[in-house]
Amino acid sequence: MTDCPIHPNLFTWPASNPVLLGGKCPRCGEVSFPAQSSCRNCGHNDSNVIELGDRGSLWTWTIQNFLPKSPYVSDETVETFKPYGVGYVEMPAGIRIESRLRISDPNKLRIGMPMKLIIEKFSSNDQGGSNLCFAFDSLGDS
Ligand SMILES: [Zn+2]
Repeated sequence: MTDCPIHPNLFTWPASNPVLLGGKCPRCGEVSFPAQSSCRNCGHNDSNVIELGDRGSLWTWTIQNFLPKSPYVSDETVETFKPYGVGYVEMPAGIRIESRLRISDPNKLRIGMPMKLIIEKFSSNDQGGSNLCFAFDSLGDS
């Protein structure tokens, strides 16, 4: 059983308190997520990897009510799909992270609410384990 992140350098792993990883341009300070080697602001080509933390606030959100089209890769099918929240979470560094949300009830989501990072199973991998992806959950309900 090997559980591993769906992409490298998204978050610290393995970790008991995982945090999101981003890139920061040493020339202009632009923060990117996922980390990119080349700065999208000034083109400088040597960004540093920084920790973005595990807390943020919900900037905006919506509910995904249907199975996303390819290349969305998960174990879900039209039959097993359940609606889920999708939002942008603003991190202390100021960057907004597009993320799946643990909450799918629109009555429990409000702009500005505090959110915390969670790591969850996204799909099965070919080593008999899981591909892990990040999501955000309400800080208050856990
Ligand atoms: Zn830059």
